[in-house]
Amino acid sequence: MREKAGKIEGDSNKKGKQGGVCKKFWECGGCEYKQDSYKRQLKEKQKRLEELIGGFCEVHPIVGMENPFHYRNKVHAVVDRDKKGNVITGVYKAGTHMVVPVDSCMIEDEKADEIIVTIRGMLKSFKIKTYDEDTEYGLLRHILIRKGFATGEIMVVLVTASPVFPSKNNFVKALLKVHPEITTIVQNINGRGTSMVLGEKEHILYGKGYIEDRLCGCIFRISSKSFYQVNPVQTEKLYKKAISLAQISEGDRVIDAYCGVGTIGLIASKQAKEVIGVELNRDAVKDAVANAKRNDIKNVRFYQADAGVFLTKMAEDGEKADVVLIDPPRSGSTQEFIDSIFKIEAGRVVYISCNPETLKRDLEYFKKKGYKAEGCWGYDLFPFTSHVETVILMTYCGNKKK
Ligand code: SAH
Repeated sequence: MREKAGKIEGDSNKKGKQGGVCKKFWECGGCEYKQDSYKRQLKEKQKRLEELIGGFCEVHPIVGMENPFHYRNKVHAVVDRDKKGNVITGVYKAGTHMVVPVDSCMIEDEKADEIIVTIRGMLKSFKIKTYDEDTEYGLLRHILIRKGFATGEIMVVLVTASPVFPSKNNFVKALLKVHPEITTIVQNINGRGTSMVLGEKEHILYGKGYIEDRLCGCIFRISSKSFYQVNPVQTEKLYKKAISLAQISEGDRVIDAYCGVGTIGLIASKQAKEVIGVELNRDAVKDAVANAKRNDIKNVRFYQADAGVFLTKMAEDGEKADVVLIDPPRSGSTQEFIDSIFKIEAGRVVYISCNPETLKRDLEYFKKKGYKAEGCWGYDLFPFTSHVETVILMTYCGNKKK
């Protein structure tokens, strides 16, 4: 998922409801649908799913949002100056490093947009210089806001080019005065000339340094860098479906591959004997371990590893599992990983995908291995963009001699 989104000016709600009349549409490039009605967007996504996945199984009607606006709980703004030297915040114009100034966006959380505008307004009086990518001079590069949908907790991440942040205590005080709803403020240091938003090092300026959110009855800790779905309303529907499709019973050993902060595995653990989570990102694994503790869940273990390498090792060691839940990034899974699913004799595979093209490729390989797709359910997690999320149930139908 791209970090930028279609921004609109003025009264976002009114315009949004009329079908997304966004003045920044052509400059920003975050949204791919403009004046299309929401129903039409869903129809097009459904058609795309049917074309790609219809050959494997039935494609059920895509589940859309009741209110498809302001759903993003993670908002990123680049800090820059315009030609006249005025401080601006906004998004990179698609495919460039030019910043399109924007104040509000029809798909972003409105409070997050408000906070970004407040911070921008404070920079001058606190003499905080904006970072210039060409001269590498200045301090503040990006502002990132994350919000817990169910808890209302808000994290502000100030990405700076150097660790020195003059009068940071007063800055924090002043920001909290305007927005007492902010629960934590983090300074992230990203000094490198890279296109990555976040650097490695962080200092907590206020609060606990992370936020928590509630999803499907569990509490999740989210730090600045960990992956967490950006649309919690739809995510809850998607995860509930995924877990019900897995038909997990008390004696089952479940693998949650590409597990992020452990969301799906921890929710599934309540029905399973044991859950094993595997994830590449070190910070996400730390959060996953903390999440297990936070929810007092004892039958889950998390490993930091490449999912393919990890599962291959499990298969070599003769380990078995009943259910594999898989939720890979846009590039999809690998043949090595799918080969190992077959070897550990998983009877059910629930595949959550954010890219129907790589899903199709992977389904073909699963089919070769004897896995039959039983159905495909689409969930619209990203209204006004062309992204579409799906969940597929597969069961093993080959002969069990492996
Ligand atoms: N299931 C989680 C995260 C899904 S996003 C959730 O719903 O929140 C995909 C995750 O795969 C990311 O956390 C990413 O860090 C991780 N990832 C990417 N490549 C990986 C690999 N080769 N092996 C294991 N995890 C990987």
